[in-house]
Amino acid sequence: MTDRADPAASAKEPVAAAPAEEALAVASAVAGTATTEAVAAANPLRDPRDKRLPRVAGPCVMVLFGVTGDLAKRKLLPAIYDLGNRGLLPPGFSLVGFARRDWKDQDFAQLTYEAVKAHARTPFREEVWKQLREGIHFVPGEFSDDGAFDALAMALAEIDETRGTGGNYAFYLSVPPKFFPVVVEQLKRTRLSDAPDGSWRRVVIEKPFGHDLQSAHELNEITTSAFPESSIFRIDHYLGKETVQNIMALRFANNLYEPIWNRSFVDHVQITMAEDIGIGGRAGYYDGIGAARDVIQNHLLQLLALVAMEDPTSFEAASLRREKEKVLKAVRLPANLGLNTARGQYAAGWQGGEKVVGYLQEEGISAESTTETYAAIKLEIANRRWAGVPFYLRTGKRLGRRVTEVAVVFQRAPHLPFSADDTEILGQNALVVRVQPDEGITVRFGSKVPGTAMEVRDVSMDFAYGESFLESSPEAYERLLLDVMIGDPPLFPHQREVELSWKILDPIEEFWATQGQPEAYESGSWGPESADAMMARDGRVWRRL
Ligand code: NAP
Repeated sequence: MTDRADPAASAKEPVAAAPAEEALAVASAVAGTATTEAVAAANPLRDPRDKRLPRVAGPCVMVLFGVTGDLAKRKLLPAIYDLGNRGLLPPGFSLVGFARRDWKDQDFAQLTYEAVKAHARTPFREEVWKQLREGIHFVPGEFSDDGAFDALAMALAEIDETRGTGGNYAFYLSVPPKFFPVVVEQLKRTRLSDAPDGSWRRVVIEKPFGHDLQSAHELNEITTSAFPESSIFRIDHYLGKETVQNIMALRFANNLYEPIWNRSFVDHVQITMAEDIGIGGRAGYYDGIGAARDVIQNHLLQLLALVAMEDPTSFEAASLRREKEKVLKAVRLPANLGLNTARGQYAAGWQGGEKVVGYLQEEGISAESTTETYAAIKLEIANRRWAGVPFYLRTGKRLGRRVTEVAVVFQRAPHLPFSADDTEILGQNALVVRVQPDEGITVRFGSKVPGTAMEVRDVSMDFAYGESFLESSPEAYERLLLDVMIGDPPLFPHQREVELSWKILDPIEEFWATQGQPEAYESGSWGPESADAMMARDGRVWRRL
């Protein structure tokens, strides 16, 4: 690891501390919208006396490797435009694309334009697009081509001259994982990773960070040999979601839930990420990785950490990460992995009124593939708060519905002074954080059914983002890209969290590797029977979604 300082990584960095007038001038220069009044007017729950300024990026270049890929087109390019539209990008902001096509700047501008038109969250505005367009450049090349990276270094120096970006560069690696080390080595060779005094250089690495503990460790060795830890941003885009950050608001800004957020009241926790689509055109990425590495190692274990951690002393990166690390360290695997995990592979079936093929018939997938498209695991947390409370994690493709949620299911009341008939359909109380879609929170509790009898059954109380706030939530990538440019790391997992998550998953993967073919489940169903059997053995059921 180098001992180079990252001058803008601390809270004292010049950009974050820009004077009020300057920050507002910057904001309005791009879009003219992000004044404090506009920010306050945007949603009715904001106190009109709140004079906080929007967080605005300072002068910089965003270099996107893999700019012709799926993620760049659907998420990253639209998110950059949306930031511009919200007045959060600085004048002179420049966007450099890098991929193998023999393209000129205007070809990349055309791709960006189409991506923005198709996927941006905010309305298209010609003046915002024009400003973004002026800063668009393309550098063609292979990741293994030294000449292409030399050309990139020259292009960046020229952009600094012409657009006043001050040598501040964020390198976003939206590339197949096998190229993460290759690109980092090139940035090191060309010294693009070295920040001259007064400037910053940051690298953003997409998931998955490694394939197991060993490879995550090796990737980290390479990355930290080029960039100081404070300049490495490991993306887990779930942490950029409003609903996921709201888990912390729900727990730590209220007094209502925390007293019952423990083993004395909670029966179990279910964390689900269900997708209704198959692997689409991503066979090359998905096969050999599977559901657990793709989603549980990162998104679901991060959700578990936020739900189960103790209060951080602040929301600064060090405190937040420390608490997440502590709880991940306390996670225990069940002794019998055969009975307490389940994996499946989707078979043909019907979805959305269409007949769909099974995983083994997907283009690019070998007929013998043992990659799981569904995974469920039971974990426990060995600490005073959670001892004996199971956390059930499940994820799968081609399930009944697209939904991600965290359900905290409470114990039954110790005594019910009602006749058994009257409470026959009364379930357990639950608090459900709906991460996506229909973002919000539901509390399920028992209520008297109107009438002459004392019948009690489940009802729900709902908070929906769409109804309480006028402003639509920013996309996760908007928040995370802005954090990278500002140099604000709390929403990015530290290497220690990444490694702790692999330590949890590796023994499960090793066990599954000895178990042959995963159990088939019909497309459009809720997964393999072994997952239901795993819950039934504990006297529980998966929530019906
Ligand atoms: P992708 O569609 O396969 O795109 C890969 C990009 O890398 C393309 O722009 C490709 O450019 C470029 N590339 C590949 N090999 C190259 C080489 N040798 N030299 C130069 N450029 C090369 O991948 P993706 O789905 O966008 O995913 C990118 C990263 O994001 C991956 O790490 C993935 O795990 C992660 N991720 C993706 C998603 C998603 O929804 N897609 C979600 C979460 C995380 P050309 O082929 O045009 O040259």
